[in-house]
Amino acid sequence: MLRSLHMKLVMIMVLLILSLMTVVGAFLMNSVVAFYLNDFYSQISTVVSDQDLFRDLTTQTQAELSGEVTGVEMLDQVLGAYAGALGVNGNNRNYYILDRTGTYLAGTDDEYGSNLEYTENLLAVVQDRSRVGDKSNVAADYMDVAIPIDRGGESYIIYIRDNRDTVDELNNQLFTLIIEALIFGLVISVLLSFLLSKTMITPIRRLTNGAERVAGGDFSDKIEVTSRDEIGVLTNTFNDMAQQLEDTIRQVENERNKLDTLFLHMTDGVVAFSAEGQVIHSNPAAEQMLCCPINGETSYGQLFGDIAALDSVLAAPDYLEGERELEGRYLELLLAPFDRENQTGALVVIHDVTEQRKNEEMRREFVANVSHELRTPLTNIRSYAETLAENAGDMPPNTEKKFLGVILNESDRMTHIVQDLLTLSRFDSGRSELKLGRFSFTGAINDLYNAVYMEAQRHDHTVEMRLEPALPEIMADRERILQVMMNIVSNAIKYTPDGGHIIISAGRSADRVWMEVADNGIGIPAADRGRIFERFYRVDKARSRESGGTGLGLSIAKEIVDRHEGVLTTVDKEEPGLTLRMELKIEGPGHD
Ligand code: ADP
Repeated sequence: MLRSLHMKLVMIMVLLILSLMTVVGAFLMNSVVAFYLNDFYSQISTVVSDQDLFRDLTTQTQAELSGEVTGVEMLDQVLGAYAGALGVNGNNRNYYILDRTGTYLAGTDDEYGSNLEYTENLLAVVQDRSRVGDKSNVAADYMDVAIPIDRGGESYIIYIRDNRDTVDELNNQLFTLIIEALIFGLVISVLLSFLLSKTMITPIRRLTNGAERVAGGDFSDKIEVTSRDEIGVLTNTFNDMAQQLEDTIRQVENERNKLDTLFLHMTDGVVAFSAEGQVIHSNPAAEQMLCCPINGETSYGQLFGDIAALDSVLAAPDYLEGERELEGRYLELLLAPFDRENQTGALVVIHDVTEQRKNEEMRREFVANVSHELRTPLTNIRSYAETLAENAGDMPPNTEKKFLGVILNESDRMTHIVQDLLTLSRFDSGRSELKLGRFSFTGAINDLYNAVYMEAQRHDHTVEMRLEPALPEIMADRERILQVMMNIVSNAIKYTPDGGHIIISAGRSADRVWMEVADNGIGIPAADRGRIFERFYRVDKARSRESGGTGLGLSIAKEIVDRHEGVLTTVDKEEPGLTLRMELKIEGPGHD
């Protein structure tokens, strides 16, 4: 209760009034006493310095001389006559006629006179008659004056004393007045402070409510500014501050949304940890790569404790690197502190390098294959050429011819390999453009049939055609598609023992045309079927080489069909031999 501004204001007002009234009261009461004292002494001194009174007091009268009255009685009479001027009323102010030793002789208050108190002023005159005892004493509860008088050879002391009852009474009245004024002032101040606090507290309450709203994240309403005073300025400043806060929060939120979206769609996995090792943030890619659910309960130790300790990541000057192999995938890890100075947390970025590794592996394998494929014919050429050179002129002409034939064959093979490699490299670099044009699919297959017919006959193969009628014209690179078809059918002829049966079938399904080439040859084990499109892959290397194969034909065919957005695949069948299927879009690549 006392903490509220309202009560504080009331207390301040009350204390203010109390202290004010106390100071004023004390000042007033002191002033009254001082005034009264001054008034008393100036009144007495004025009267005493009156020549007539002095003569009457000091000069003996006839009656006194004649013994009719005593000096004391005469003094009493004189003083009685001047009682009004001296302010003597026999009540609170009296005069006393004393002898030189201070013994009471006569006066207006016999009771006190017979029991006289020897005050400082009285004692001073008793001790030294040349002086007048008129020293004022504020602290005393009386005012007095002692005057030495000599009359007819007798020495007297006229002692006037005021018991200050009038001052006290006045002070009492003043005190009552002050207390009344105080109570009145207090009531007014309490009422005023209520009013004042209401006008002061209302805008402060409004400001407080606004601050609470802002603290709760509600920036919708501005606080109304009703005055131009300090509170008005404060309210304005608060509104500005709230606006800036809202802008900043919106910016931060935007940035966070951007980051969230980035994290969400990033192909790299990201996991952020607090300095204590708890997960603060993670994206779906991270869960997928690490093959485990990640939530607030997951700790750094569980996920990456084996790669590096969290402390060493937090203290790392740059970042730490790590690797992990998980379910056949290779993961590269970058572990970095995200606020190096304060060490508030660590960030782990997970990069899936499986494809990269595979590509590197494939490239290595490819280079090894190329060198191997080129070295074999080169070695052959060299050894035959050496033999020819060493035995020049000594060899039977038939053998010489045979050797030269081998050298020619091998160099042809090398030329084929180099040509095929060039074709593939053109595809890889995107330099090989398709020459699209509309042509009859049936026509192309018939041309294929005519081209392979003689070769098939040489191997006693029967070639059967099963074409659906009225196949549409298609949009494709005729030359390249024919190259693919030739490759497939040549393989069927090559890898089928003589006297085999080759079926070329074709048809249409929806927006595509298809062609299947089935043979009853040696076929390929199911496990290897997927690999026949790999570069240099050959099931039987010797056989392939014998028949002039480079192991690149089907890879080139696959590249061509892929570029047409078609499909080239093996067909799983129970029968012996191999069936390959090609599908092409009727409207060509770029049409869905
Ligand atoms: P190649 O020039 O050696 O024929 P390809 O790329 O055309 O190279 O074929 C790759 C490998 O696939 C061949 O070496 C062969 O082992 C296998 N292959 C292709 N077609 C057939 C088929 N019709 N029957 C059996 N094996 C095949």
